[in-house]
Amino acid sequence: MRIKDIKTFLMQAQFPPEDAYATSHRLDATKGQSGRSATRNWLFVKIYTDAGITGLGECSGWPRVVECAVHDLAPLLIGEDPGNIERLWQKSFSAIMAHGMTGVVGAGALSGIDMALWDIKGKVLGTPVWNLLGGKVRERIKVYGHASTPAVARSLRDRGITAIKTGGVADIIEKVDRIRRAVGDNVDLMVDLHGPPWMTAKDAIIIGRRLEPYDLLFFEDPVAPENFEALERIQQHVNIPIAAGERFATIWGMRALIERELVDVIQPDTGRAGGLSQMMKIAAMAEAHHITVAPHSGSLGPVAEYAALHLMAAIPNALILERLEDDWPGRDEVIEPVPKTVDGHLPVPDRPGLGVDIVEDAVARYPSTSNLSVAGSPTTGAYAAGTFDEQVYFQTRFCRRKDFSPKLGGDQ
Ligand SMILES: [Mg+2]
Repeated sequence: MRIKDIKTFLMQAQFPPEDAYATSHRLDATKGQSGRSATRNWLFVKIYTDAGITGLGECSGWPRVVECAVHDLAPLLIGEDPGNIERLWQKSFSAIMAHGMTGVVGAGALSGIDMALWDIKGKVLGTPVWNLLGGKVRERIKVYGHASTPAVARSLRDRGITAIKTGGVADIIEKVDRIRRAVGDNVDLMVDLHGPPWMTAKDAIIIGRRLEPYDLLFFEDPVAPENFEALERIQQHVNIPIAAGERFATIWGMRALIERELVDVIQPDTGRAGGLSQMMKIAAMAEAHHITVAPHSGSLGPVAEYAALHLMAAIPNALILERLEDDWPGRDEVIEPVPKTVDGHLPVPDRPGLGVDIVEDAVARYPSTSNLSVAGSPTTGAYAAGTFDEQVYFQTRFCRRKDFSPKLGGDQ
């Protein structure tokens, strides 16, 4: 069997309009004329073989740019045996070495291709991908939802979601307090500070210590994840498990977080960590350090979610899967079959391969228009060119004062 062709399917996906996730990410200001989010794209990749079997994958890591990377890699893969997954990963990786190794763009392309090759192998052998990864450790995967208000949190809990994440820096202590009181003690709570570049270790430690009484499952990206020294200090001074890793790719990107035990929970993004092949290795590296795996989904689409389910079925140290439980309704239009959460868990798929296909006509109804926010972003919304805010130092301290100092009684 040989690879005959590789096609990409890029679409604009909306964040859920009422969801706290959008609010906490200040995305209301970023919607374009279409009404859809200006920042959320889903990129699916389909690999065609001369045997008529196709494989499906999904890439993140700046999808509109990644699409170009996939097409650049395609000539290297066409004519190859799709069964040689690791060989094709290494061949592609070597080819992009001269472009500065992978970053998340290169790794995003590798992720979707790798995922599609596992899908093909499963279909050829007539078995689900989890079976190829070593078989099942578990029958269902626990998921967590997002909420920034007690009402949303209660709604999730009432539908059986027993793990909820909230985020942002502004008023975070008060937000967690309200949500904890609303849902009670039998729900896992998590906090994501989204690693703002202006956050110092000392500020993150102050926040973390104030969060300790709320019995959090983890404290995510308390500082920019590249700031290893700050993470180390936070690990030493905050008694909450630390989570990070969504912005990194490949075993080499995750290595410091794992080997230095800067995290208790590693969060590879299924669409940009380098594919299932890399995620299995990342999970094994983490297992050696008693670190659990909670794949990042964030703005990911539904095919990557399927891939995460197969991975988490097969690895011993899977903790929990991120999910926008109340996602934009278009999510359910673009794939078949649509997974449904039952008692806070997603079932492990049982069809051959990944067990999912895209509905190409539905994907085509939502053409991609943009991938970056023009109006502002969580950390640059205050940016004002030509003013003192243009200076990075003042800019970052401005963010700190605005989001962080008031609740500490600091200067405004
Ligand atoms: Mg995050």
